[in-house]
This record gives sequence, C-alpha cells and structure tokens, in this order.
Amino acid sequence: METYDVIIIGGGPAGVSAAIYAKRKLLRTILISKEIGGQVLLTNNIENYPGFVERSGIRLAEYFEQQLRELGVEIVEDAVREIRIEGDSFRAICEEGTEFLGKSVIATGGSSHRKLNVPGEDEFFGKGVYVCATCDAPLTKNKTVAVVGGGNAAFQSADLLARYANKVYLIHRRGVFSADGILVNRVKGHGNVEIMTNVAVREIKGKERVESILLESLESRRVFELPVQKIFIEIGKEVKAGYLKGLVQTNQHNQVIVDRLQRTSCRGIFAAGEITDLPYGQAIISAGQGAVAALAAFDYLSEKEGSG
Ligand SMILES: Cc1cc2nc3c(=O)[nH]c(=O)nc-3n(C[C@H](O)[C@H](O)[C@H](O)COP(=O)(O)OP(=O)(O)OC[C@H]3O[C@@H](n4cnc5c(N)ncnc54)[C@H](O)[C@@H]3O)c2cc1C
Repeated sequence: METYDVIIIGGGPAGVSAAIYAKRKLLRTILISKEIGGQVLLTNNIENYPGFVERSGIRLAEYFEQQLRELGVEIVEDAVREIRIEGDSFRAICEEGTEFLGKSVIATGGSSHRKLNVPGEDEFFGKGVYVCATCDAPLTKNKTVAVVGGGNAAFQSADLLARYANKVYLIHRRGVFSADGILVNRVKGHGNVEIMTNVAVREIKGKERVESILLESLESRRVFELPVQKIFIEIGKEVKAGYLKGLVQTNQHNQVIVDRLQRTSCRGIFAAGEITDLPYGQAIISAGQGAVAALAAFDYLSEKEGSG
C-alpha cells in the first residue's frame, strides 16, 4: 500500500487550503471528503472572503475544487471512520471500507450547528433563519430579530446584532444562562435587547421569508406569536472529530486542542478550522489555519526524515 506524506480529512476551507499548501510543497497528498466546500456550500452570501466577490458559497466551493484538480490533488469521496496509529504512520479507515496510510494527518472535519428541529427551520434556512451572526449581521439592519440560546455564542450574537437591528429578542428555554456574566451584562446594557427566559421556540412561520415565530412559555404553557424578520439559532455546534477519539486531547466541547502551529497532542496529527478549540468560525480563518497545518506538517516530515 502506498504511504502518503499527508492525509487530509475534510474538504472545507481548512482542508482545501491544507491540500493546496501540502501539494505545493511536493508532499504526497490525499484529501478525503464526501464533498468539497464544507459549510461554505450552505450559504449564498459570503461577503468577507478576500478576493471573492461573487457571494455564492456554491461558486466558491467550485473554485476550491477547480484549484485542487488543477494542482493534481488526489481526492477520495468518502468519510474517515477511524484513524489508527501503526508504528510511526497513521491508517485512515473510511466508511466504505477503503484504507490509506499516511506519515501525517491533517484533520479538518469542521462542525455543524445544532438545530431546533421545529417546523419552518429548514424551509426558511437562509431566508430569515441563520446560524452565524458574524456572517449575516449586516442583513439585519433596521430589522426585528430573535437570537435563540443561552451560551456565549448566543450572547455574542445578540451583542453584535444589537448594533444593526432595531430590536433583538434573546430567547432561552432555561432561567439561567451558561454565558459569561460580563457578556450577559453587556447585552443587557443594549437598550434594544429584550431577554425572554423559560421560553421555547415551537415554529418558525412566514410566506416567502420568516415573518414570525411561535413561542411557548415553559412556565404558563401559553403559546404566543412574536413578529420577527430574522432568527439566529445559536444553541451550539457539533464537532466532527469522532475518528480522532482517544488519539488527541479535546476540550469540554469535543474541540481538538491545538497549538499555534496547529499541532495536536499526538505527534504527526495536525488539526485546523472549526474542529479545533481556536475561536471565530469563519471560512478565511479555517483556510489560514489549514495553510499553517500543512506547512507545520511539512516541517514535521522534514525533521523526521533528517533524523531518520
Ligand atoms: C449558513 C452559513 C453561512 C456562513 N457564512 C459565512 C460567511 O459569510 N463568511 C465566512 O467566512 N464564513 C461563513 N460561514 C462559516 C464557514 O462556512 C465556516 O467557518 C467554514 O466553512 C469552516 O471551515 P472548516 O474547513 O473548518 O470546516 P467545514 O466547512 O465544516 O468543513 C468540514 C469538512 O470536513 C468534512 N468531514 C467531516 N467529517 C468527515 C470525515 N469523518 N471524513 C472526511 N471528511 C469529513 C465535511 O464533509 C466538510 O467537507 C457560514 C457557515 C454557515 C453554516
């Protein structure tokens, strides 16, 4: 079986960027992912990726794939189920049964947003339902919006949205917040934010776009309708790092802990993008970290060869 210099897991901005840098360092590179683009495929409104002015996430993903193909990066359309250590190499075992050996691994499996699982959530995704305030806050100018959640992500979103929107409702199903107190106080300081606790979202309603949400008070069981034009769901993310279980250190959110060179606690395994404990989930940030991971993997392999 051929041994690759680097196995890249994931085809989002982090994985694509890692593959570009690895390939241009002449590393034998393989990228394993069911699709190219990752979360970028879920948006039609990317306005903050330098040099990319077409906005469509699908278009950006097409450029990603074109660049990989032009460079001759080997792409396997599959998902990695498990990574096993074999001597000083790593065996990637895929869902469809194929296996690949690599001297190093760059894990960029990303994350996905937790859903409310209520009617209207999928139907109005991108048409009033959003999951990333940093990405979409400018769309809320002079609008009435809701943020759902009680953690740091929800409060950071409310803090940002309060600067654009006319009115922000922060809706939380519990009576206490897990967000940092200082952040909660900052949000409470915005005159246009109203916090609603012990309230659950039951439905997102509208015709073409979101027009209102149906809420239920968990204390009185009263169901009522709140007119909003945008709703941001900020109830956490699920990190896609199961295949690294037991191999690398993670934090309480299952994010892979990395150092400033994207190195994990396991020598030879690097991680980049939203799979890591680094802040600010954004395409350009994942891409930057992917580049660092590939360069660090190159240095790791060079040192290993030099000492071997
Ligand atoms: C609706 C929406 C709008 C957004 N808008 C913007 C925006 O305007 N600007 C911006 O900068 N960012 C935006 N983002 C955020 C941005 O898309 C993410 O920060 C970025 O895509 C993260 O890149 P990543 O490579 O770390 O992970 P991801 O994009 O999550 O990619 C992970 C990749 O890993 C693959 N993968 C997962 N598990 C496995 C496995 N076991 N084996 C192999 N492959 C695997 C996935 O299929 C995927 O290809 C938006 C996100 C969403 C959801």
